[in-house]
Amino acid sequence: MSVSGLCQICESRPAQDRCENCGTFACRAHYERTVRLCVDCAAQADPDPGRNEDVDVHRF
Ligand SMILES: [Zn+2]
Ligand SMILES: [Zn+2]
Repeated sequence: MSVSGLCQICESRPAQDRCENCGTFACRAHYERTVRLCVDCAAQADPDPGRNEDVDVHRF
């Protein structure tokens, strides 16, 4: 992949890939290759197991 420019997250390392969701260019440290997203989008797309308790509605 020919990505030019710096990672838009840390702005210190060369970007390796582009987030398919927001288009952010990210270095390897800030790009989740398994989901092809930057770490920001990957964190939002990833279901957080710690928040499952909010789904419980009827708890009388
Ligand atoms: Zn980075
Ligand atoms: Zn993104």
